[in-house]
Amino acid sequence: MSLKNQVVVLGCGVGGLTFASTLAKQAKGSASVTVIERKSRFQFPPSYTWVVMGWREPKQVQRDLTPLARKKVKIINEAVIKIDLSAKRVATSSSQIAYDYLVVALGAEHVPGEIPGFEDYAHQFYDLVSALKFREALNGFAGNTVSVGVSRTPFKCPAAPYEMSLLLDDNFRKQGKKVEVHMFTPEAQALPATGPVIGKQVERMLATRGIKYHPKKKLVKVARDSIVFEDGEEINHDLLVAVPPHRCPSVVVDAGLTDSSGWVPVNPNTLATKVEDVYAIGDVSAIETPHGHMPFLPKAGVFAQGQAEILANNIAHSITGKGERKAWDGSGTCFLEVSKSESAFLRGTFLSKPPRLEFHPPRRKWHFDKIALEKFWMTYRL
Ligand SMILES: Cc1cc2nc3c(=O)[nH]c(=O)nc-3n(C[C@H](O)[C@H](O)[C@H](O)COP(=O)(O)OP(=O)(O)OC[C@H]3O[C@@H](n4cnc5c(N)ncnc54)[C@H](O)[C@@H]3O)c2cc1C
Repeated sequence: MSLKNQVVVLGCGVGGLTFASTLAKQAKGSASVTVIERKSRFQFPPSYTWVVMGWREPKQVQRDLTPLARKKVKIINEAVIKIDLSAKRVATSSSQIAYDYLVVALGAEHVPGEIPGFEDYAHQFYDLVSALKFREALNGFAGNTVSVGVSRTPFKCPAAPYEMSLLLDDNFRKQGKKVEVHMFTPEAQALPATGPVIGKQVERMLATRGIKYHPKKKLVKVARDSIVFEDGEEINHDLLVAVPPHRCPSVVVDAGLTDSSGWVPVNPNTLATKVEDVYAIGDVSAIETPHGHMPFLPKAGVFAQGQAEILANNIAHSITGKGERKAWDGSGTCFLEVSKSESAFLRGTFLSKPPRLEFHPPRRKWHFDKIALEKFWMTYRL
């Protein structure tokens, strides 16, 4: 057994939680696992669209983190304020925590203030509080036009804004409301990471429902009832919901872990950063793709989870000497909900050249699979 066994995990979202619980199981009794997380609850973002539509209540999509302690994981419920890579130490407001292995899983920060008017006039659904506010706005909505969009790339869950436009459109129809839905994005096509063929299939789904799609549109200004793009075009609407700009958490940038991408470059197979014994998983990381669809892998929970499982296995192996090392292969799946009871489904290996990708049109089966995934996170993951 190695003398190096102090593992510190920064962040307990999808990646951090998966890593900590998998490592605690695989290196039982041999590793000391400490998680630093500012929230006391784990929240499941894939269900936020259901919260917006009123199909879930907040308590159904979050869980207290305390059961992790039963797995002998120590949780420090504070914000990370400094990562000192040379001293191998992390600071919170009340303590300094030394590590042998550091796993950075701090996700992405939202910065709506980067776009003038966003905070005053745009709704968003990328956190639970904002999703609930948007739900309230929808409840009293009596307008004719809604804009749904993406303000900047990269953003997490490439399918989420498309899903939101399809769900809103479906819901307005079922309520007998005639509402025109616009979908805008700076991307050149829908879901660019999946390539042009699948992108066209998704765009056809929008077109079939009459959703007006505006690709290659970079949002520069939000006003009370309109948005303005970089090319000067304007869309007027009665309600706007948009994905806010994302950036790497400043504590990670200040530590010197990022590169010109703005995110943490890692070895795709091992998740190692340029600093020995320091790893980054999930949204905080930047992984270059070997194909031309997109320069970097999209940010998604399914990748954070897969990376976390591989990394936990490998660190458990380093500590216990048992089992064998594994390499992450970039595979992932994604649901694209289109109504209350149907979802499309995507599956692929995103790091192979060419990528192997499948698109499965909407069916009830995929919707039930997403419910099963939610149940796993809400019931079994901890
Ligand atoms: C609406 C929506 C729908 C989505 N749907 C899907 C989907 O269907 N499928 C899918 O694969 N992905 C989906 N995603 C994306 C997925 O949620 C993220 O990619 C995933 O959560 C990334 O995991 P992570 O561990 O990297 O970051 P996160 O899960 O964001 O976790 C980061 C954690 O770090 C904590 N943290 C940050 N800074 C600090 C600090 N300074 N100190 C202490 N703690 C800190 C945060 O509180 C958070 O708990 C969706 C996202 C959204 C918003």
